[in-house]
Amino acid sequence: MTYDFDLFVIGGGSGGVRCARMAASHGAKVAVAEEGAWGGTCVNVGCVPKKLMVMASEYGNAVIDSHGFGWDTQPGRHDWSKLIAAKDAEILRLNGIYKRLMANCTTFEARAKLTGPHSVEVAGQTITAKHIVIAVGGRPTAPDFQGAEHAIISDDAFHMPTLPSHVVIAGSGYIAVEFAGMFRGLGAQVELVYRAHAPLRGFDEEIRTSLAEALEAQGIIQHPGRTITKVEPTATGKRVTLDNGEVIETGLVFSALGRTPYTNALGLAEAGVKTGPDGAILVDETSATSVPSIYAIGDVTNRINLTPVAIAEGHSLADRLFGPGPRIWRLDAVASAVFSSPPIATVGLTEEQAAARGITDIYVEKFTPMRHTLSKRTRKTLMKLIVDQATQKILGAHMLGEDSPEIIQGLSIAINAGATKQDFDRTVGIHPTAAEEFVTMRTRARVAGAPT
Ligand code: NDP
Repeated sequence: MTYDFDLFVIGGGSGGVRCARMAASHGAKVAVAEEGAWGGTCVNVGCVPKKLMVMASEYGNAVIDSHGFGWDTQPGRHDWSKLIAAKDAEILRLNGIYKRLMANCTTFEARAKLTGPHSVEVAGQTITAKHIVIAVGGRPTAPDFQGAEHAIISDDAFHMPTLPSHVVIAGSGYIAVEFAGMFRGLGAQVELVYRAHAPLRGFDEEIRTSLAEALEAQGIIQHPGRTITKVEPTATGKRVTLDNGEVIETGLVFSALGRTPYTNALGLAEAGVKTGPDGAILVDETSATSVPSIYAIGDVTNRINLTPVAIAEGHSLADRLFGPGPRIWRLDAVASAVFSSPPIATVGLTEEQAAARGITDIYVEKFTPMRHTLSKRTRKTLMKLIVDQATQKILGAHMLGEDSPEIIQGLSIAINAGATKQDFDRTVGIHPTAAEEFVTMRTRARVAGAPT
């Protein structure tokens, strides 16, 4: 049996582009289809523009903080449209880079649909391939409250013509807390409505409660234990009703209630590809679906929904199919960051997971960072290590505080390499930094799960 291509990748985001590029570098004949902009969610409406906008939001506070250091400058007026234009120009540049990465592949700027185990329909043609990889990602989950059409989702937030002076955000996951800090830093009043007792379900509990304190210190009004039941347009904006009857008048309602695998009209059922109850494509550890010639990587599989994981899955799959064998990444302790203000970064077990496994030793430092001893800003840094009392291995590290993503990225190498508490203890710190606290924690704060 001959095919038009060795590999057809549906989706030109982080995972799909890496998979296609590596397969082509191994000599495979590759085609890629992307219906939107090259680079997918991360580049266009996710990680990259988000981080640029978070950076923008930090300058106002930096000016205020500088007063404690003797400066008398005042924050100027922020021009939202100038930020969006600058961000768009950078994203356009990145789109071009992603497109050029596909130089050794045939590209289709159109939606592709499976028509069989070895065939897709794209741009009015039927194309065959020995292997097909689905890398179409996810889309923001539509809210189900009354008047949901009056709320925006994260895709829209990157293209708003102006930033309203008051914003209500639904949810308290990554996207909700990142945009809350960003909008607040750019001068908006922000209210966060979430159903849990603290933001960021699944994170270490002490990090969650410390983030709630940090949001409050930033002036973000939180409505824990609440959901939105109704949004109505008014002459001046939107009226939001919560499940306790409370009414909030606002300029913008932003729904950040999770993301859903983007599998609609992809021809999965026709091709025999099985999905789970959440719509995610079911795959094994090699990213193989229920159809032997079809694979799925990235957010459409709803495993670990992070760009670097999608890239690892795509790269590993290309190496497995066309190269020397799969490149191995450790996916049991993947570090991640939330670009809240201040940011959070984490790797490995939370204290709650440790307690459930009988792992006891918890080391904690919570302190005012050096910068804020002079700026007088109310802001605490929290650093935490989870240590296995039997082996003394570090099984988790968590930080809420400035530069935490940069610090935890380094620590995650040590943790993946199996470093022990004694390895940390004999490491000489860099002074004066916050990071040195991770190598100077000498006294166990408590047994995992004991009251803080
Ligand atoms: P998350 O899954 O992180 O959070 C979803 C939020 O929506 C939670 O607060 C959840 O509440 C709430 N929620 C869900 N359904 C309902 C409902 N019916 N009623 C009320 N509340 C509801 O999703 P995000 O949209 O924030 O982000 C999507 C994914 O994108 C993340 O999981 C992450 O993988 C990725 N991402 C990663 C980033 C990073 O690495 N920095 C940045 C942005 C996104 P509850 O907690 O109570 O369930």
